[in-house]
Amino acid sequence: MDIEQQIKALREELRAHNYAYYTQDQSTISDFEFDKKLEQLQALEAANPEFYDPNSPTVRVGGEVTKNFETVVHEFRMYSLDNSYSKQDLLEWEQRLKRIVDEDIQYTCELKYDGASISLRYEDGAFAKAVTRGDGTQGDDVTNNVRTIKSVPLKLKGRDWPQKFEIRGEIVLPWDGFKKMNEDRAAQGLELYRNPRNTASGSLKLQDSTEVAKRPLECLLYQLAGTNLPIQNQYAGLELARKWGFKVPTASRLVNSMEEVLEFIEQWDKKRHELPYETDGVVIKVNSLQQQEELGFTAKAPRWAMAYKFAAEQVSTRLKSITFQVGRTGAITPVANLEPVEISGTTVKRASLHNADQIEKLDIRIGDEVYVEKGGEIIPKIVAVDLAKRPEDSVPAAYIEECPECHTALVRKEGEALHYCPNEQSCPPQVKGRIQHFISRKAMDVDGIGSETVDQLVEAGLINNYADLYDLKVEDVLPLERMAQKSAENMINGIEASKLVPFERVLFALGIRYVGETVAKKLARKYKSMQALMQMPEVNEASLFEQTHPGTQQKLEELAAIPEIGTRIAESVVAFISDENNRHLISRLQESGLQFSLSPEQLEGQTDQLAGKTFVISGVFEMSRADLKKMIENNGGKVGSSISSKTDYLIRGEKMGPSKLTKAEKLGIPMISEQEFLAML
Ligand code: AMP
Ligand code: ZN
Repeated sequence: MDIEQQIKALREELRAHNYAYYTQDQSTISDFEFDKKLEQLQALEAANPEFYDPNSPTVRVGGEVTKNFETVVHEFRMYSLDNSYSKQDLLEWEQRLKRIVDEDIQYTCELKYDGASISLRYEDGAFAKAVTRGDGTQGDDVTNNVRTIKSVPLKLKGRDWPQKFEIRGEIVLPWDGFKKMNEDRAAQGLELYRNPRNTASGSLKLQDSTEVAKRPLECLLYQLAGTNLPIQNQYAGLELARKWGFKVPTASRLVNSMEEVLEFIEQWDKKRHELPYETDGVVIKVNSLQQQEELGFTAKAPRWAMAYKFAAEQVSTRLKSITFQVGRTGAITPVANLEPVEISGTTVKRASLHNADQIEKLDIRIGDEVYVEKGGEIIPKIVAVDLAKRPEDSVPAAYIEECPECHTALVRKEGEALHYCPNEQSCPPQVKGRIQHFISRKAMDVDGIGSETVDQLVEAGLINNYADLYDLKVEDVLPLERMAQKSAENMINGIEASKLVPFERVLFALGIRYVGETVAKKLARKYKSMQALMQMPEVNEASLFEQTHPGTQQKLEELAAIPEIGTRIAESVVAFISDENNRHLISRLQESGLQFSLSPEQLEGQTDQLAGKTFVISGVFEMSRADLKKMIENNGGKVGSSISSKTDYLIRGEKMGPSKLTKAEKLGIPMISEQEFLAML
């Protein structure tokens, strides 16, 4: 056997032992024998560097050091999941599904693994890249570290994998390994790790992969992503991934009804304590990929999947005090300061109290022994008071009447849960908060300024609002503490560069209450320019006498009529644009050269041809459903999810559901084919 063959044979053999041990939990060789063969391979590779392979079993021991984790844009977005907490929630979800899909639905039930999400990329059957979830659209390249995790296959088994695909999963630290790591820490007199999840995600960001290799991490996979996957449903995807050598937990089940989903949940709510790693719930996925496509995504999560969270752990502790925080919109949030207590492995010192009603409803008093729960939210909440332990001299908690920051009397609008500080112009957290929101990543994304710099700039009296940013010069900011020439230049350049940010993000950055990213996009599409958005409709003379602000009522109606806008948002927008101060800020920003209208590229391909028309699409089409939807929306039409009397056209594809057909016929909705639709444009 020549050297190359010898190296290849050793790699194959070690790979097979690794797979048996780490993925199938079987031992096919003694540790001693394994180490001997690994050393032999290491020696051969060192002597013959021309046969280097980044995916050789020898790389499992690490060695690569990553100083900066590079940012990678996900080709397929990594979504979050919607949460449910009860049988009722799941039944309601099923109702929502049935409104869109009118065939029988099968579900895949999986455990929800509690670790760090990861996306693995494979090319030509070899491990190519590992990226963290990050914010869902982009994450960090942690390839060198993930390569050391033994259950991540570096070469796939079989041959039937697509040339390029991704697989998603969770990197977890099983309890056993976590305990061992902590025993070591204790022996060295070091502080213990708090919980397996944080330790797992922390491990992915270690610079030295040799350290990562020592940690007993595991990679559990649950989802294939790619354009040409050889599967029709989720469950088949799991089976195929397992065949290719991935560690796919065997707890998953394919079921035919929500009844069976509930059985699965009940069974695992008990059995989960026997698992080698932590799980905080079950993930239920619509099995058919075609149905998944039909259901699509909301802004943050797929409509076809749902996480069910097992009941959260509750503990009791003492409420020491209540403090009140002022947000960027002036909203006041009460926060409970607690006697520190452990819940599910983390120390909790603060809990959210939501609003005055919540405090009153639960009659929460300072000094009370309260029950704290950590559910789906990141911030734990107080769920009840232990009345038996209430001190005799306790009095109901008083809600503040003045803003804790600027002492302005608080207001609470009819029907709203939150109190607000109305001093928008000079209440410090509001002033700072609005500017911080303005420069934030999803808004103007100004490089070179962080929240602390904003605090500094405001405190030094250099800026009072976001329009002031554009008047800043390097000389103005240089005197600030810890400000060097270079960082001052970066900051001014960053501000300058933000002038190119597209209109919809500028609109979001303005910080109009209730106008989030999605609403800002809708408004930008609808009005196409700030000028059009701010334009008050013409009013007749009679109504001029009735109104203090002519046209506002019409503007309100105009806005509220836009799908998914509604009166609450409309009122907030009108209040914002009719405020003199805001109009002045906007005109200053306009003079500074920010984008206040859609660019020609954004307008391209957009028409009003389908304005006011609602389409429902059902079945399979030549073009992808996503493209079809985009086409409708770009031409001003709306895509409805279910047929009603408001539907104007049903675009009918192949294999369309029978009940949609009947419903459309009953309501007399015109049905058109894909070609007929295209002809409309
Ligand atoms: P959340 O972070 O609460 O929005 O939940 C979404 C996350 O659950 C995903 O990003 C995954 O990392 C994780 N997850 C764990 N197990 C699964 C599973 N079986 N299917 C899908 N996602 C899962
Ligand atoms: Zn205030």
